[in-house]
Amino acid sequence: MLPVVRLDGTAWFVDLRLRQFRETMNPHNYVDFDTVKGTRFCQQAGVVTCLRCGTSVVVSGSPLDEGVCCVRCGWAVDNGR
Ligand SMILES: [Zn+2]
Repeated sequence: MLPVVRLDGTAWFVDLRLRQFRETMNPHNYVDFDTVKGTRFCQQAGVVTCLRCGTSVVVSGSPLDEGVCCVRCGWAVDNGR
């Protein structure tokens, strides 16, 4: 079960393994994290990538005063807020 975020009026699956957003109603339409649009989506959706190991995590909904740690290596990931 992938997390779903709503961006630009569209619901997207957040696929952290493939590093892309996929439209829930049209899976053929996707946005890679590494594109300009994908970078903006990541910021809006609260998706951050660990600089140490490259693992992406969704941080939206996390308490702002608590640091976010990478689920794989424990590195403190900056959520950009
Ligand atoms: Zn990591």
